[in-house]
Amino acid sequence: MGRKEEMAKKSVALMDTLPQIRNIDVAAHIDHGKSTLSDNLIAGAGLMSEELAGKQLVMDFDEEEQARGITIYSASASMVHSVEGKDYLINLIDTPGHVDFGGEVTRAMRASDGCIAVCCAVEGPMPQTETVLRQALREKVKPILFINKVDRLVNELKLTPEQMQKRLVGIITKINELLYKMAPEDVKGKWVVKVEDGSVVFGSAFNNWALSVPYMKAKGVTFKDVFEHCEKGTQKELAKKAPLHKVLLNSVVHHLPSPDVAQKYRIPHIWHGDITSIPGKAMMECDDKGPLTFMVTKIVVDPHAGEIAIGRIFSGTLVQGQDVYVLGQPGTNKVQQVGLMVGADRITTEKVLSGNIAAVTGLRSALAGSTVTSEKDMDPFEKIVHTSEPVVTVAVEAKHMKDLPKLVDTLRTISKADPTIVVQINQETGEHLMSGMGELHLEVVQHRIARDFKLEITASEPIVVYRESVTGSGPDGGFEGKSPNKHNRFYFEVEPLPENIVNALRNNEIPSDARKHKDEVMKKLQELGWEKDIAKGVFHIYGTCIATDTTKGIQNLFETKELVKEAIDEVMVRGPRGQEPVAGMLMRLVDAKLHEDAVHRGPAQTIPAVRNSIYGAMTVSGTTLLEPMQKVVVQVPQDKMGDVTREMGQRRATIVDMKTEGDAVTIESTAPVAEMFGFASAIRGATGGRALWSTENIGFQPLPPHLLEGVTRKIRERKGLPPEPYDANYYSG
Ligand code: GDP
Repeated sequence: MGRKEEMAKKSVALMDTLPQIRNIDVAAHIDHGKSTLSDNLIAGAGLMSEELAGKQLVMDFDEEEQARGITIYSASASMVHSVEGKDYLINLIDTPGHVDFGGEVTRAMRASDGCIAVCCAVEGPMPQTETVLRQALREKVKPILFINKVDRLVNELKLTPEQMQKRLVGIITKINELLYKMAPEDVKGKWVVKVEDGSVVFGSAFNNWALSVPYMKAKGVTFKDVFEHCEKGTQKELAKKAPLHKVLLNSVVHHLPSPDVAQKYRIPHIWHGDITSIPGKAMMECDDKGPLTFMVTKIVVDPHAGEIAIGRIFSGTLVQGQDVYVLGQPGTNKVQQVGLMVGADRITTEKVLSGNIAAVTGLRSALAGSTVTSEKDMDPFEKIVHTSEPVVTVAVEAKHMKDLPKLVDTLRTISKADPTIVVQINQETGEHLMSGMGELHLEVVQHRIARDFKLEITASEPIVVYRESVTGSGPDGGFEGKSPNKHNRFYFEVEPLPENIVNALRNNEIPSDARKHKDEVMKKLQELGWEKDIAKGVFHIYGTCIATDTTKGIQNLFETKELVKEAIDEVMVRGPRGQEPVAGMLMRLVDAKLHEDAVHRGPAQTIPAVRNSIYGAMTVSGTTLLEPMQKVVVQVPQDKMGDVTREMGQRRATIVDMKTEGDAVTIESTAPVAEMFGFASAIRGATGGRALWSTENIGFQPLPPHLLEGVTRKIRERKGLPPEPYDANYYSG
């Protein structure tokens, strides 16, 4: 039996011994060695040759990701590790290293109970170290620390053993400060990493060794020995004495929780349903006999098996042939194959039990983030995405006419695998528009279409997706919107929503189903400063817009509400200025006159009446465009600082912080997404490839007034609209 088969067999055997399971991920700032480390661990389990570890990149099995040197989509691998004669099943979930892919990071974290935070010994904690730790803590994922690239302290920085120790202590202190600052209340001060108990490990992923203080004591290894091995180029010997996978996975087993322990405190934190319900209790107990709860973290496309859903089972058992619900989707799905992932390989098993990471086929309706369950009415893990916030769009076309049907199918599959991709057809031009989180994100998706789906496409230059909102409020008494038959009239007032409410909506702090969670919505809005009357009338939330009803005793309004909501959804997708999505706006229904006979207030009457009223009110109040912004963090050697600030200066960027540490400067700025196209090659060119950088979407800001007209005209031209937006009269006809 080969090593791989043996591991597969052991993994299956361990599946139901919960205390011997660990679900973990590796979190790090880009370039600190996450991929090298992940490979190393897998190699340690005998799943690839140790010589190749760090050079072959198993977790980054996408060529695309290898070519770019970053991990974009998360995969998972299971391995078996033995401590004191006992086998442990370790499921390693890979998280994307690029913050453009925030949704995937959160999901990968949600499936993990613990994480290895990797930090480079030379650079120390970096902006993304903080970001990923914050994400981990927000999901109540417990960290241990691995300080990587210690060889460089000796070989490049020429530190002495004492200086090396001091450096390590400095990093540990900083990490603990971050952990203290960001930890949820009940674990504050408890979740810290300590040298003496082995929750801090340091070493070199590239050279396959690692040490912890307990391990050093047990084996009689000193800092001086480490220093000598690095200096003399005998790290291979050190790797024999202190193999990375052994030392680090020992720490994982000792310090990170098993699923049965973790779910008790994580479930109330990450799932907002009733924990005393049957599925709630089953998850708290991680009970494989309870109802099935499976959260999909990722969908990958296999050329043979089709779509494979990978995720964490929080309760129950996934069995071949079982019928399950995908929450938010109609009907049931039949589970086909179930199994575990080993690197890029999938092994099939009869069933996978609660507490494990499973790979499943047959879940046609599942998206990344879906909750799959045997209970039709269960609360989902993630809010069902209603509107994601794409900021960049490209128009894609099939190169060959005959591929058009395939293009439509492919785009649909892609947006299932990655719900941050939104696909639309432009009615006027018939173009297929694909929107996503950034330029790089869309490039990667295009590459995947060509490679995984063997579909040749062309894509337009990226364009920014703006948001529309209003600058003022009004009109008093509402703008009258009439239905085509003139028998129905709606009167809406509009106004910009305050920033704290927009943020709360964006962070999912306010339930989006305003009807189902009426009391909670009202309470939350009052906490955020709203008067009870307005908060009480909220009947619909769409993205970052809210509709409230302040009318009293209007005949037939209740029966018409569903149509009003439908009309609002339509308006929110395309505003009056440039048919861009509407954001951050309050709509207040102040009056309505409705025909008493339902026949005369059907969709064809109600929807245009509502639309006219809201468009009219927006136009009267003054419309504007909001542009998406990014935080851009660039790190460069000091002598290249000027090149970076010059490059940023040409991109309407505002520099918000500049930190110098050693020879490196970290420049943090905010810049409009519209100005960031082509940044990757520009910054490489400007700094001779010596800049490390990352970007993160940070919401929207009003477009500077002098750009408003020009940008509006451009958008309208592109969409085949008359160059100027209509005036209010247009909507009162
Ligand atoms: P990731 O972006 O966090 O996945 O980082 P990678 O694993 O791709 O590593 C980034 C770079 O650091 C690569 O060139 C690695 O070869 C190098 N690297 C990783 N670990 C070590 C180490 O322990 N020592 C040294 N000297 N280089 C390392």
